[in-house]
Amino acid sequence: MKCKKCGGKASVNMRQHKLALCKEHYLDWVPEQTERFIKKYEMFTRDEKILVAVSGGKDSLALWDILHRLGYHADGLYLGLGIDGGIGYSHESQRLTEKFAHERDLKLHIVDIETEYGQPIPVLSEISHRGHGKPCAVCGLAKRHEMNRIARDLGYDVLATGHNLDDEAAVLFGNTLSWSSEYLLRQGPVLPASDGLARKVKPLCRFYEREMTAYSLVRGIEYIYEECPFAEGSQSIYYKELLNQLETARPGAKLTFYLRFLEARKRGDLFIEKDLERAHLRSCPKCGQPTSTGDLCSFCRMIEKATSAQAA
Ligand code: SF4
Ligand code: ZN
Repeated sequence: MKCKKCGGKASVNMRQHKLALCKEHYLDWVPEQTERFIKKYEMFTRDEKILVAVSGGKDSLALWDILHRLGYHADGLYLGLGIDGGIGYSHESQRLTEKFAHERDLKLHIVDIETEYGQPIPVLSEISHRGHGKPCAVCGLAKRHEMNRIARDLGYDVLATGHNLDDEAAVLFGNTLSWSSEYLLRQGPVLPASDGLARKVKPLCRFYEREMTAYSLVRGIEYIYEECPFAEGSQSIYYKELLNQLETARPGAKLTFYLRFLEARKRGDLFIEKDLERAHLRSCPKCGQPTSTGDLCSFCRMIEKATSAQAA
């Protein structure tokens, strides 16, 4: 297989794009495409301050690398979740993130959940009795809350995450199966700023997971290969497997699924008035972040429950 740009030996073949590229041209292609998506979805400009949520995994580190190469003002945020799982997961992912930042002289903020809230994620999950034995519900809640809080407190305009197409298609698939209109309404490459919350963007949302793996490998980014030990057996991994089967039979199916959704959403085809009303959010009286009830948000309720369980 030959590189479409130079005729040299191709290293990455993307069937869904009918495009094969050599290493050098692949390393140009990824940032070019990213820049195109940033502009197309009006994610941010060169004057804005971007906070990249980095986990030590390939996608978030690749995103940070790409934004840096494109000349954006992008700092990193690492959240210490306190997950060990027998492999020192959090410890190792933090070490790799710090190393990445240090080698490139990038600014990294580190926030540790245990330092902030007294307990690491697995313990918070246990004592607040949420999530049926798995910490993922509390973890997701805490990540979202802390990213929002820190972006706001430190004055960033935009919060960027490394979600790729496989992540987005799996979430979309799940929300479509249960027809969760409130979630569908909020899914997209850009979530506009609201009530003191920074805008949220996903610049990698049109890249296949394997494209990001290839980018990280070719670019020599050292990232944590292990998934979080709690990810095993999760619904999203199951959906990803199903979508991969579909993709194998019909190359491009995943991308089409996601892009057609975005088109329908943009036209306003998908939803009825009632859904739009329900998706209207109010502010949590304690932290000021959005909540659908008008009472304490789920994160503040979880912390309250964990605190009172500890005191008892
Ligand atoms: Fe958190 Fe993801 Fe690990 Fe669940 S799998 S605990 S959500 S990092
Ligand atoms: Zn709150």
